[in-house]
Amino acid sequence: MGIRENTTQLIENLEPVKSFLTHSHYNYILIDEKGYIVESNRFFYDLINYPVGDLTGRSLHHVIFEPYHATIKSIIDNIQTNNHQKAFAIFETYNHVLINVILHFSGLYNKSGEFAGTMILVDTVSNDSLIQQDQTVIHNMFYEDYELSLFNMILENSRDVVYIINYQNNKFDFLSPAIFEMTGYNKEELVTMKKDDILNIIHPDFREIFRSHWKGLANKPVNTKNYFSIEFKIRPKLGISRWLSDNRKLIRDKHGKLIKIVGNIRDITDFKLVEDALNRSRDRLTKAMDATNDGMWDWKLDSNKVYFDARFYMMAGYLPNEFPNTVSEWMKRIHQNDIHNVQSQLDKHLHGKSDQWISEYRFKTKHGDWIWILNRGKIFERDEQGNALRMVGTHTDISLRKKMAEELQKRNHELESFHEKLFASEEKFRQLAENTQDVFWLADKDNLLYINSSFEKIWGHPCAEIMKTPYLMVNWVHPDDIQSFHQLLDLSNLEINVPYQEKFRIIRPNGDLRWIWSRRFPIVNENNEIYRIAGIASDITAQMTIEEDLIATKEKALESDRLKSAFLANISHEIRTPMNGIIGFTGLLKDENLSYENRIQYINIITKSGDQLLHIIDDIIDISKIESNQLKIKHAEVNLNELIADLELFYANGKKQIAKDHIEIIGELKPSFDNIKLLTDESRLRQIFMNLISNALKFTEKGHIRFGYTLTTKNTIEFYVEDTGIGISSEMQSAIFKRFRQVDDSTTRTFGGTGLGLAISEGLIKLMNGKIWLKSVLGEGSTFYFSLPYSVIDHAVTHKSPVTVETDQYDWSGFVILIVEDDAINQEFLATILAPTNVTFIQCYTAEEAITVSESSTIIHLVLMDIRLPKMNGYEAFNIIAKQRPSLPVIAQTAFALTEDASRCLEMGFANYIAKPINRKNLLTMIHSYLINYKS
Ligand code: ADP
Repeated sequence: MGIRENTTQLIENLEPVKSFLTHSHYNYILIDEKGYIVESNRFFYDLINYPVGDLTGRSLHHVIFEPYHATIKSIIDNIQTNNHQKAFAIFETYNHVLINVILHFSGLYNKSGEFAGTMILVDTVSNDSLIQQDQTVIHNMFYEDYELSLFNMILENSRDVVYIINYQNNKFDFLSPAIFEMTGYNKEELVTMKKDDILNIIHPDFREIFRSHWKGLANKPVNTKNYFSIEFKIRPKLGISRWLSDNRKLIRDKHGKLIKIVGNIRDITDFKLVEDALNRSRDRLTKAMDATNDGMWDWKLDSNKVYFDARFYMMAGYLPNEFPNTVSEWMKRIHQNDIHNVQSQLDKHLHGKSDQWISEYRFKTKHGDWIWILNRGKIFERDEQGNALRMVGTHTDISLRKKMAEELQKRNHELESFHEKLFASEEKFRQLAENTQDVFWLADKDNLLYINSSFEKIWGHPCAEIMKTPYLMVNWVHPDDIQSFHQLLDLSNLEINVPYQEKFRIIRPNGDLRWIWSRRFPIVNENNEIYRIAGIASDITAQMTIEEDLIATKEKALESDRLKSAFLANISHEIRTPMNGIIGFTGLLKDENLSYENRIQYINIITKSGDQLLHIIDDIIDISKIESNQLKIKHAEVNLNELIADLELFYANGKKQIAKDHIEIIGELKPSFDNIKLLTDESRLRQIFMNLISNALKFTEKGHIRFGYTLTTKNTIEFYVEDTGIGISSEMQSAIFKRFRQVDDSTTRTFGGTGLGLAISEGLIKLMNGKIWLKSVLGEGSTFYFSLPYSVIDHAVTHKSPVTVETDQYDWSGFVILIVEDDAINQEFLATILAPTNVTFIQCYTAEEAITVSESSTIIHLVLMDIRLPKMNGYEAFNIIAKQRPSLPVIAQTAFALTEDASRCLEMGFANYIAKPINRKNLLTMIHSYLINYKS
């Protein structure tokens, strides 16, 4: 018999010991005579960290640290001569950790006394205890020879309790020392303890079971099994209760009577705790599975049985176990498009090529529709060849998730195509936008996405600036329009299909103003959600200017219309007043019984009214000419001092007639200007002065009127008319220059007038390149100023001093005047005027007649020539007469109060002119001024 067979047999014989060793915490190794490992227990493998069973058949040296190989080999070789040996060595573990150990060697022999192998018990030694002693000392100590029964050694060192009880006297025959560690009572205490005291160590929950079991043992039939196992709790002397497992063997005598009980008690508290924890975690797992609704499966591959839990069946609409628990039944229900994928994933895992098996597939429900299943599984057990034995996993219904993912993908596709379309249309929009003068922009709720280059042209700011900080726009808006601009920015009220528009002004960097018309409208996507905001902004400055002009023109037209109506009301009043005077008093004159004084008074009234009427007509003609731009200015030399003196004299007389004699009228002359003549239109200058002085007189009740001129440094002459009258409020100061405007527009006005005087004056001054203005304080008085260009001819002139005659009592006897007039009444009128002067007059009714008279008669001192004559007019007649008698003064009488006619007459060489209807006093004064020259 070879040594190996020998060892095997020995092992079989050692079975009871081995079973103890297997469960004990003692490490043991059984080696053959060559030192190869035949067997060892789990604790040995735990110690050296090798997979269980991995070292069977391999040399013991495999785990011994090299320096100890020789020592160990010599012990093994000599075991048959020295049966019990002890040695210190170092083990090298699987992960190359070094462990200090003490090895107990015992030679083993079979019944025939043949050597069967060596049993080695392994004791670990802590490093600390080794450090204290010299290693050689330890060596020697362990080599000491001593006898130790293997069995005793095992019992003494085991953590399990081995006992033998004598059933007859209830006493321990044997009790191994581990009982102290297990119960807190030592061997001696327990051996002497009474049965009831021993029972007290048992946990109260188990005492009854324990007692009845004990009693029952005696009555067990002989033929039943002699092994019993019982688990119970005890209460140790100290500390918490412990779980014990007691394996008993009944030993009977040859009559079958129970005499002893041999038992092995093990502390299984840790195991119970683990079991509890395991139960709890299993419970937790079940709850978790309940919560997730996942199904579970457990597949035993060797038997090809699968366990599907109820939830898996129900997931697919089946009752639990409605279809058989087999892989093929499961496979049958997988969608044929997915089956290939499922199988290949599964194969991969079965062949160890993946950590886990995960597959998603469609699974047919009981009702024939499909649900999506996510299956996750993992192999938990493999055989020694690596074949999978058991696989466990879960089923999850992911139909909803799949549906959502599909939906999402569909949505993404839609969105992509929408984006493509949008991009294409945006591109078109962009091209369009780049070619328009309007500003186009596109934004989402937070950013400006696009703005075309027209923005730069209109706003004068770079596009980049606005793209970066859109809110800058606000700074460029006219302060008065900020509110409308903010409304445009406010997107809170965006409404689909509703554009929004605003007009506002912007200020360009150079300070120019531009009018902007801005429209914005939301852009929606296919789901009718607002996606973008687009806008157009147009520069409407030109339109706005036209519009403003139109409005202003309309306003002006309305105003002018209103003023014209007011004027018509005024003018009819102004015409009616003198007309009433003329008609009324003319009627009264017919009364033959009228006294001389009354007659004179009536005639004065009629004359005054006629003058007034004439003045109105003159004004109307002037304003029409000014407005139609037909009025011409005739420049001639004017001596300003003469003009001022003339006007002063005129008003000194005139004021009496309007009951304003108490008002002082002062014409202020500039003696240094006596020789200087201003180049201007004298008659117009006189007209302006007269308008201003007449107004001053009209609106002044007390004080004075002062008028004159000053030379300013700006090459202009400034004229002034100052009064101490009622004054003009500042609001009205510019209005009064408008035609027909009066401070008091009411029909019940205190002062007469047409409202044309100032408008005419302003028009004339403008034509003469000057300007007019005023200073006035209400209630204190007014000063009207006007300026004209200072253009003078500075030479001494033989000036005629103005002929002023205080009286109209002329005596012109000896003088001859030729009157040329086609109208008999006018002939009569002139005759009546001239008769009191004793002058001789020749009356001619045509021009031709007059020419003949002037040719034949040498004694003619003056001619009064009418201009409008039947065949030959007054101008032609004058030309002929002037040729015959150049020094003969010819005074034109013109029917029209037209200054053009007057100037034409003067230009042609008429001595002077007098306007019709003829003012008696003026006519006499004028004639006198010529006749007087004959005298001197
Ligand atoms: P009229 O005197 O015929 O009404 P004007 O054009 O000369 O027309 O004057 C317009 C208005 O200006 C007058 O009606 C009067 O209300 C105001 N005005 C003009 N001159 C004076 C002044 N010196 N003092 C106060 N008011 C004056």
